[in-house]
Amino acid sequence: MQPVYHRSLILSLCVILLTACGGESAGPAAPAATAPTPIAQTFKWKMVTTWPPNFPIFQEGVERFANELREMSGGRLDIQVFAGGELVPALQSFDAVSQGTVQMGHGAAYYWAGKIPAAQFFTAVPFGMNAQGMNAWFYGGGGNELWAELYEPYGLVPLPMGNTGVQMGGWFNKKIESVSDLQGLKMRIPGLGGKVLAKAGGTPVLLAGGEIYTALERGTIDATEWVGPYHDERLGLYRAAKYYYYPGWHEPGTALELIINAEAWASLPADLQLMVKTAARGTSLWMFAEFESQNLKALETLKNQYNVEVLRFPPDVLQEMKRLARETLDEEAAKNEQFNEVYQAYQTFRANNDAWNAISESAYADALAQ
Ligand code: CA
Repeated sequence: MQPVYHRSLILSLCVILLTACGGESAGPAAPAATAPTPIAQTFKWKMVTTWPPNFPIFQEGVERFANELREMSGGRLDIQVFAGGELVPALQSFDAVSQGTVQMGHGAAYYWAGKIPAAQFFTAVPFGMNAQGMNAWFYGGGGNELWAELYEPYGLVPLPMGNTGVQMGGWFNKKIESVSDLQGLKMRIPGLGGKVLAKAGGTPVLLAGGEIYTALERGTIDATEWVGPYHDERLGLYRAAKYYYYPGWHEPGTALELIINAEAWASLPADLQLMVKTAARGTSLWMFAEFESQNLKALETLKNQYNVEVLRFPPDVLQEMKRLARETLDEEAAKNEQFNEVYQAYQTFRANNDAWNAISESAYADALAQ
Protein backbone atom coordinates (compact mmCIF):
# COMPACT_ATOMS: atom_id res chain seq x y z
CA MET A 1 0.00 0.00 0.00
CA GLN A 2 2.66 2.49 0.98
CA PRO A 3 4.58 2.68 -2.31
CA VAL A 4 1.32 3.40 -4.11
CA TYR A 5 0.56 6.18 -1.63
CA HIS A 6 4.06 7.63 -2.13
CA ARG A 7 3.83 7.51 -5.88
CA SER A 8 0.50 9.24 -5.91
CA LEU A 9 1.70 11.84 -3.43
CA ILE A 10 4.79 12.54 -5.51
CA LEU A 11 2.68 12.73 -8.63
CA SER A 12 0.29 15.28 -7.14
CA LEU A 13 3.22 17.27 -5.77
CA CYS A 14 4.73 17.39 -9.25
CA VAL A 15 1.51 18.67 -10.63
CA ILE A 16 1.33 21.39 -7.99
CA LEU A 17 4.95 22.35 -8.50
CA LEU A 18 4.67 22.42 -12.27
CA THR A 19 1.60 24.56 -11.98
CA ALA A 20 3.38 26.91 -9.59
CA CYS A 21 6.46 27.14 -11.77
CA GLY A 22 4.35 27.78 -14.81
CA GLY A 23 3.15 30.95 -13.15
CA GLU A 24 -0.39 30.19 -14.20
CA SER A 25 -1.67 29.79 -10.67
CA ALA A 26 -1.89 32.51 -8.10
CA GLY A 27 -2.88 30.02 -5.41
CA PRO A 28 -1.07 29.47 -2.10
CA ALA A 29 2.40 27.84 -2.07
CA ALA A 30 2.44 24.06 -1.92
CA PRO A 31 2.84 22.56 1.56
CA ALA A 32 6.02 20.52 2.15
CA ALA A 33 5.45 16.79 1.78
CA THR A 34 7.50 15.98 4.91
CA ALA A 35 9.23 18.08 7.57
CA PRO A 36 12.75 18.94 6.46
CA THR A 37 15.47 16.90 8.16
CA PRO A 38 16.76 19.05 11.04
CA ILE A 39 20.40 20.04 10.74
CA ALA A 40 22.24 18.28 13.61
CA GLN A 41 23.62 20.71 16.15
CA THR A 42 27.39 20.71 16.40
CA PHE A 43 29.05 21.17 19.80
CA LYS A 44 32.51 22.68 19.73
CA TRP A 45 33.99 22.16 23.18
CA LYS A 46 37.26 22.90 24.87
CA MET A 47 38.93 20.48 27.27
CA VAL A 48 41.87 21.19 29.60
CA THR A 49 44.05 18.67 31.41
CA THR A 50 46.49 18.67 34.31
CA TRP A 51 49.14 16.85 32.22
CA PRO A 52 52.17 18.10 30.33
CA PRO A 53 51.87 18.17 26.50
CA ASN A 54 52.48 14.72 24.94
CA PHE A 55 52.58 13.06 28.38
CA PRO A 56 52.38 9.36 27.44
CA ILE A 57 49.19 7.47 28.29
CA PHE A 58 47.71 10.37 30.34
CA GLN A 59 47.55 13.17 27.73
CA GLU A 60 47.74 10.61 24.93
CA GLY A 61 44.59 8.90 26.26
CA VAL A 62 42.71 12.20 26.44
CA GLU A 63 43.59 12.99 22.81
CA ARG A 64 42.35 9.55 21.80
CA PHE A 65 39.12 10.15 23.74
CA ALA A 66 38.48 13.41 21.84
CA ASN A 67 39.27 11.77 18.50
CA GLU A 68 36.96 8.83 19.23
CA LEU A 69 34.10 11.16 20.14
CA ARG A 70 34.61 13.21 16.97
CA GLU A 71 34.45 10.04 14.93
CA MET A 72 31.57 8.38 16.81
CA SER A 73 29.43 11.50 16.61
CA GLY A 74 30.19 12.19 12.95
CA GLY A 75 31.72 15.51 13.98
CA ARG A 76 28.77 16.64 16.11
CA LEU A 77 30.92 16.67 19.27
CA ASP A 78 34.20 18.30 18.45
CA ILE A 79 36.50 18.66 21.48
CA GLN A 80 39.71 20.65 21.30
CA VAL A 81 42.18 19.39 23.93
CA PHE A 82 44.69 21.61 25.76
CA ALA A 83 47.48 20.24 27.98
CA GLY A 84 48.19 21.78 31.37
CA GLY A 85 49.30 25.40 31.02
CA GLU A 86 48.28 25.73 27.37
CA LEU A 87 44.98 27.44 28.13
CA VAL A 88 44.86 27.55 31.94
CA PRO A 89 47.45 26.47 34.53
CA ALA A 90 47.20 22.71 35.17
CA LEU A 91 45.82 22.98 38.67
CA GLN A 92 43.21 25.57 37.71
CA SER A 93 41.41 23.14 35.44
CA PHE A 94 38.82 22.27 38.12
CA ASP A 95 37.81 25.95 38.40
CA ALA A 96 37.88 26.47 34.63
CA VAL A 97 35.40 23.63 34.08
CA SER A 98 33.33 24.53 37.14
CA GLN A 99 32.94 28.12 35.95
CA GLY A 100 32.22 27.09 32.37
CA THR A 101 35.33 28.74 30.87
CA VAL A 102 35.80 25.34 29.23
CA GLN A 103 33.42 22.38 29.09
CA MET A 104 35.65 19.47 30.07
CA GLY A 105 38.73 18.59 32.07
CA HIS A 106 40.93 15.60 32.85
CA GLY A 107 43.11 15.09 35.90
CA ALA A 108 43.02 13.35 39.25
CA ALA A 109 40.54 14.07 42.05
CA TYR A 110 43.20 14.24 44.76
CA TYR A 111 44.52 17.45 43.23
CA TRP A 112 41.40 19.12 44.66
CA ALA A 113 41.98 17.89 48.23
CA GLY A 114 42.40 21.50 49.42
CA LYS A 115 38.83 22.28 48.33
CA ILE A 116 37.23 18.86 48.84
CA PRO A 117 39.26 16.57 51.15
CA ALA A 118 36.88 13.64 50.38
CA ALA A 119 37.80 13.85 46.67
CA GLN A 120 40.96 11.89 47.48
CA PHE A 121 38.96 8.65 47.78
CA PHE A 122 38.15 8.92 44.07
CA THR A 123 41.84 8.79 43.10
CA ALA A 124 43.76 6.65 45.57
CA VAL A 125 44.35 6.38 49.30
CA PRO A 126 47.34 4.69 50.97
CA PHE A 127 46.74 0.94 51.34
CA GLY A 128 43.36 1.46 49.66
CA MET A 129 41.80 -0.49 46.80
CA ASN A 130 43.64 -1.37 43.61
CA ALA A 131 42.37 -0.59 40.08
CA GLN A 132 40.07 -3.60 40.02
CA GLY A 133 38.53 -2.66 43.36
CA MET A 134 38.18 1.01 42.36
CA ASN A 135 36.40 0.07 39.14
CA ALA A 136 34.09 -2.30 41.03
CA TRP A 137 33.27 0.52 43.45
CA PHE A 138 32.80 3.15 40.71
CA TYR A 139 30.62 1.19 38.32
CA GLY A 140 29.02 -1.44 40.55
CA GLY A 141 29.22 -0.24 44.16
CA GLY A 142 27.75 3.26 44.16
CA GLY A 143 31.10 5.08 43.90
CA ASN A 144 30.15 7.06 40.78
CA GLU A 145 26.88 8.23 42.35
CA LEU A 146 28.67 9.35 45.52
CA TRP A 147 31.28 11.16 43.45
CA ALA A 148 28.56 12.95 41.46
CA GLU A 149 26.97 14.14 44.72
CA LEU A 150 30.32 15.42 45.95
CA TYR A 151 30.94 17.51 42.79
CA GLU A 152 27.34 18.66 42.28
CA PRO A 153 27.73 21.89 44.32
CA TYR A 154 30.62 22.83 42.00
CA GLY A 155 28.51 22.45 38.86
CA LEU A 156 30.57 19.45 37.74
CA VAL A 157 29.74 15.97 36.49
CA PRO A 158 32.61 13.53 37.22
CA LEU A 159 33.32 10.22 35.49
CA PRO A 160 36.22 7.79 35.97
CA MET A 161 38.63 7.90 33.04
CA GLY A 162 41.84 5.95 33.49
CA ASN A 163 43.81 4.13 36.14
CA THR A 164 47.57 3.81 36.56
CA GLY A 165 47.42 0.46 38.34
CA VAL A 166 49.72 -0.08 41.34
CA GLN A 167 52.43 2.58 41.21
CA MET A 168 56.05 2.09 42.29
CA GLY A 169 57.13 2.94 45.84
CA GLY A 170 59.74 5.37 44.57
CA TRP A 171 63.40 6.17 44.09
CA PHE A 172 65.71 6.34 47.12
CA ASN A 173 69.36 7.29 47.45
CA LYS A 174 69.81 4.80 50.29
CA LYS A 175 68.40 1.40 51.20
CA ILE A 176 65.26 1.26 53.33
CA GLU A 177 65.80 -1.66 55.66
CA SER A 178 63.71 -0.58 58.62
CA VAL A 179 61.20 2.11 59.59
CA SER A 180 64.03 4.09 61.20
CA ASP A 181 65.54 4.62 57.74
CA LEU A 182 62.54 6.82 56.95
CA GLN A 183 63.33 9.22 59.77
CA GLY A 184 64.56 12.54 58.47
CA LEU A 185 64.03 11.38 54.89
CA LYS A 186 63.00 14.20 52.56
CA MET A 187 60.75 12.69 49.95
CA ARG A 188 58.62 14.09 47.18
CA ILE A 189 55.32 12.37 47.96
CA PRO A 190 52.01 14.23 47.72
CA GLY A 191 48.72 13.99 49.60
CA LEU A 192 47.77 11.39 52.17
CA GLY A 193 50.90 9.34 51.38
CA GLY A 194 52.95 12.35 52.45
CA LYS A 195 51.03 12.57 55.72
CA VAL A 196 51.78 8.90 56.41
CA LEU A 197 55.47 9.48 55.71
CA ALA A 198 55.46 12.43 58.12
CA LYS A 199 54.05 10.17 60.85
CA ALA A 200 56.96 7.80 60.24
CA GLY A 201 59.38 10.70 60.84
CA GLY A 202 60.01 11.70 57.23
CA THR A 203 59.51 15.07 55.57
CA PRO A 204 57.11 15.10 52.62
CA VAL A 205 58.00 17.62 49.92
CA LEU A 206 55.64 18.86 47.21
CA LEU A 207 57.19 19.23 43.77
CA ALA A 208 55.70 19.33 40.29
CA GLY A 209 56.82 16.65 37.84
CA GLY A 210 59.23 18.96 36.04
CA GLU A 211 61.13 19.81 39.23
CA ILE A 212 61.68 16.31 40.58
CA TYR A 213 64.78 15.24 38.70
CA THR A 214 66.85 18.32 39.56
CA ALA A 215 65.82 18.23 43.24
CA LEU A 216 66.82 14.57 43.53
CA GLU A 217 70.03 15.03 41.59
CA ARG A 218 71.09 18.02 43.72
CA GLY A 219 70.17 16.30 46.98
CA THR A 220 67.41 18.78 47.87
CA ILE A 221 65.33 15.64 48.36
CA ASP A 222 66.51 12.12 49.28
CA ALA A 223 63.73 10.25 47.57
CA THR A 224 60.77 10.65 45.25
CA GLU A 225 57.79 8.79 43.94
CA TRP A 226 56.37 9.50 40.48
CA VAL A 227 54.25 6.95 38.62
CA GLY A 228 55.68 3.63 37.45
CA PRO A 229 58.64 2.38 35.39
CA TYR A 230 57.29 3.64 32.04
CA HIS A 231 56.99 7.26 33.19
CA ASP A 232 59.86 7.19 35.70
CA GLU A 233 62.31 6.06 33.02
CA ARG A 234 61.32 8.99 30.80
CA LEU A 235 61.94 11.42 33.66
CA GLY A 236 65.49 9.98 33.96
CA LEU A 237 65.15 9.34 37.70
CA TYR A 238 67.57 6.38 37.45
CA ARG A 239 70.37 8.88 36.91
CA ALA A 240 69.67 10.56 40.27
CA ALA A 241 68.92 7.63 42.60
CA LYS A 242 69.95 4.01 42.61
CA TYR A 243 67.30 2.14 44.58
CA TYR A 244 63.85 1.67 43.12
CA TYR A 245 61.34 0.33 45.65
CA TYR A 246 58.00 -1.43 45.32
CA PRO A 247 55.07 -1.66 45.86
CA GLY A 248 53.51 1.81 45.75
CA TRP A 249 51.55 1.44 49.01
CA HIS A 250 50.60 5.13 48.80
CA GLU A 251 48.96 4.85 45.34
CA PRO A 252 47.74 1.29 44.85
CA GLY A 253 45.45 2.02 41.88
CA THR A 254 45.29 5.68 41.03
CA ALA A 255 42.07 6.55 39.23
CA LEU A 256 41.95 9.50 36.84
CA GLU A 257 38.91 11.66 36.26
CA LEU A 258 36.90 13.29 33.52
CA ILE A 259 35.04 16.39 34.68
CA ILE A 260 32.25 18.00 32.66
CA ASN A 261 30.58 21.36 33.24
CA ALA A 262 27.05 20.47 34.41
CA GLU A 263 25.27 23.05 32.23
CA ALA A 264 27.21 22.02 29.14
CA TRP A 265 26.40 18.37 29.97
CA ALA A 266 22.68 19.15 30.24
CA SER A 267 22.79 20.84 26.82
CA LEU A 268 24.01 17.64 25.10
CA PRO A 269 21.38 15.44 23.43
CA ALA A 270 20.97 11.99 24.99
CA ASP A 271 22.87 10.19 22.22
CA LEU A 272 25.94 12.42 22.64
CA GLN A 273 25.82 11.98 26.43
CA LEU A 274 25.83 8.22 25.88
CA MET A 275 28.81 8.53 23.52
CA VAL A 276 30.75 10.53 26.16
CA LYS A 277 30.03 7.91 28.84
CA THR A 278 30.96 5.08 26.48
CA ALA A 279 34.17 6.75 25.29
CA ALA A 280 35.16 7.52 28.92
CA ARG A 281 34.76 3.85 29.86
CA GLY A 282 36.69 2.80 26.78
CA THR A 283 39.48 5.26 27.58
CA SER A 284 39.63 3.96 31.16
CA LEU A 285 40.26 0.49 29.85
CA TRP A 286 42.76 1.67 27.23
CA MET A 287 44.82 3.65 29.76
CA PHE A 288 44.93 0.83 32.32
CA ALA A 289 45.89 -1.69 29.64
CA GLU A 290 48.70 0.62 28.44
CA PHE A 291 50.13 1.02 31.96
CA GLU A 292 49.94 -2.73 32.55
CA SER A 293 51.61 -3.59 29.26
CA GLN A 294 54.31 -0.89 29.18
CA ASN A 295 55.55 -0.94 32.78
CA LEU A 296 57.36 -4.25 32.83
CA LYS A 297 59.25 -3.50 29.59
CA ALA A 298 60.46 -0.24 31.10
CA LEU A 299 61.39 -1.96 34.35
CA GLU A 300 63.54 -4.47 32.46
CA THR A 301 65.32 -1.59 30.72
CA LEU A 302 65.92 0.15 34.04
CA LYS A 303 67.39 -3.03 35.54
CA ASN A 304 69.41 -4.28 32.61
CA GLN A 305 70.47 -1.13 30.84
CA TYR A 306 70.80 1.33 33.72
CA ASN A 307 71.68 -1.08 36.56
CA VAL A 308 68.90 0.08 38.81
CA GLU A 309 68.46 -2.00 41.95
CA VAL A 310 64.79 -2.96 42.20
CA LEU A 311 63.86 -3.78 45.80
CA ARG A 312 60.78 -4.71 47.74
CA PHE A 313 59.97 -2.76 50.91
CA PRO A 314 60.62 -5.02 53.94
CA PRO A 315 57.40 -6.49 55.46
CA ASP A 316 57.79 -4.65 58.78
CA VAL A 317 58.14 -1.29 56.97
CA LEU A 318 54.94 -1.97 55.02
CA GLN A 319 53.16 -3.15 58.15
CA GLU A 320 54.04 0.05 60.00
CA MET A 321 53.06 2.25 57.05
CA LYS A 322 49.73 0.44 56.88
CA ARG A 323 49.10 1.15 60.57
CA LEU A 324 50.03 4.81 60.10
CA ALA A 325 47.84 5.05 56.98
CA ARG A 326 44.81 3.87 58.97
CA GLU A 327 45.64 6.41 61.68
CA THR A 328 45.94 9.18 59.07
CA LEU A 329 42.57 8.36 57.47
CA ASP A 330 40.87 8.22 60.89
CA GLU A 331 42.32 11.61 61.81
CA GLU A 332 41.21 13.20 58.53
CA ALA A 333 37.72 11.72 59.02
CA ALA A 334 37.51 13.28 62.48
CA LYS A 335 38.37 16.70 61.00
CA ASN A 336 35.90 16.72 58.09
CA GLU A 337 32.36 15.33 58.08
CA GLN A 338 32.17 14.88 54.30
CA PHE A 339 35.51 13.04 54.30
CA ASN A 340 34.09 10.80 57.01
CA GLU A 341 30.93 10.02 55.01
CA VAL A 342 32.86 8.99 51.92
CA TYR A 343 35.38 7.12 54.07
CA GLN A 344 32.58 5.03 55.63
CA ALA A 345 31.08 4.23 52.21
CA TYR A 346 34.52 3.37 50.83
CA GLN A 347 35.32 1.14 53.81
CA THR A 348 31.98 -0.68 53.60
CA PHE A 349 32.50 -1.46 49.92
CA ARG A 350 36.11 -2.28 50.52
CA ALA A 351 35.30 -4.86 53.23
CA ASN A 352 33.15 -6.77 50.71
CA ASN A 353 35.74 -6.35 48.01
CA ASP A 354 38.52 -7.67 50.27
CA ALA A 355 36.42 -10.65 51.33
CA TRP A 356 35.71 -11.59 47.70
CA ASN A 357 39.29 -10.87 46.74
CA ALA A 358 40.51 -13.31 49.41
CA ILE A 359 38.83 -16.19 47.64
CA SER A 360 39.39 -14.95 44.08
CA GLU A 361 42.43 -12.82 43.12
CA SER A 362 44.49 -13.38 46.30
CA ALA A 363 43.77 -17.10 46.43
CA TYR A 364 44.73 -17.40 42.79
CA ALA A 365 47.94 -15.40 43.31
CA ASP A 366 48.80 -17.75 46.20
CA ALA A 367 48.09 -20.76 43.99
CA LEU A 368 50.44 -19.41 41.31
CA ALA A 369 53.17 -18.81 43.88
CA GLN A 370 53.00 -22.40 45.19
CA1 CA B 1 52.42 9.01 42.08
